[in-house]
Amino acid sequence: MMKNKVTIIGAGMVGSTAAYSLIAAKSAEEVALIDVNKKLCLSQVMDLQHSVPFWGYTKVKVGSYADLKDSRIVIITCGSAQKVGETRLDLLKKNSEIIKSLIPEIFKRNPDIIVIMVTNPVDILTNIAIKLFPAKKNQIFGSGTILDSARFKFLLGEKIAVNPNSLHAYIVGEHGDSEVPLWSTVTIGNTPLDSFFKLSVAEKDEIFKTAKNAAYTIIEGKQSTYYAIAAGLVSLVDAVLYNKKTVFTVSHQINDLFGLKGVSLSLPLVIGAKGILRDININLSAREKKALKLSAKKLEEAEQGLL
Ligand code: NAD
Repeated sequence: MMKNKVTIIGAGMVGSTAAYSLIAAKSAEEVALIDVNKKLCLSQVMDLQHSVPFWGYTKVKVGSYADLKDSRIVIITCGSAQKVGETRLDLLKKNSEIIKSLIPEIFKRNPDIIVIMVTNPVDILTNIAIKLFPAKKNQIFGSGTILDSARFKFLLGEKIAVNPNSLHAYIVGEHGDSEVPLWSTVTIGNTPLDSFFKLSVAEKDEIFKTAKNAAYTIIEGKQSTYYAIAAGLVSLVDAVLYNKKTVFTVSHQINDLFGLKGVSLSLPLVIGAKGILRDININLSAREKKALKLSAKKLEEAEQGLL
């Protein structure tokens, strides 16, 4: 039987924190870390290994592409991180070259592996990966707006004094400036938000703006964001390893939804052992649909600019 092994490419802040979180959550039996910076990778692995006696049993190692062969999941976090004042799209050129050479290496070694893209701009890189291997489409998705949706739920939960786990609240579209909050379908338990708690337009705008700009705020203070995305990655890994069939707003290529086609962006999708299991027939207000289309257009144009 295949081990619950995860390979992480990129041992920087996000990759190493994801590895640490997988160890602490006892999700994976084995974690292999790969990085072009061999010295950094070895140091991260040693530090992680020394946490294992406290947490449990995970085998942690410096990996190579050979580790992909018996991994169930590969998490891609390699490349440049967002710098102060830099948008995620600025990273496009640098990181797309890395992804184009990496994806064939991955599927050559393991045709069944699930690929979770984290490197930014995550939507475009996910789309590039899917275009390279359309037959593997359901095995490839990006972390997309899982983090934005978590920030949205956290802020909304604080405002209305409800545990975020009892909220259904999604941010969809680009993981970035054109993302779209789905206010029309927010529910508390199964009660629509507006029946539960009256928020003014200004209050809603403030919550969304804070969620959307969180990455910029955090990067200003500590250069990168990694704890929350690492926690989100553990949830995605668990959904795949244990076939949990959980709904996440991950980035994936859409085929014919609201007139959109061939672009990757986030929508709520069901994740399990084979990756994307199915989509959800989401209801959007006319305004949300329009905003989603604009978000898709922005991503398409950015990707085309690359060609
Ligand atoms: P980082 O600079 O700390 O780490 C990146 C690592 O990638 C470095 O250690 C570097 O040596 C390595 N690397 C570069 N090219 C490589 C290659 N070809 N093969 C293997 N390793 C290579 O950056 P970080 O803070 O860990 O962020 C990583 C990526 O994740 C960035 O693109 C960042 O924008 C993104 N990110 C995404 C989200 C999300 O929600 N999708 C959240 C946070 C960060």
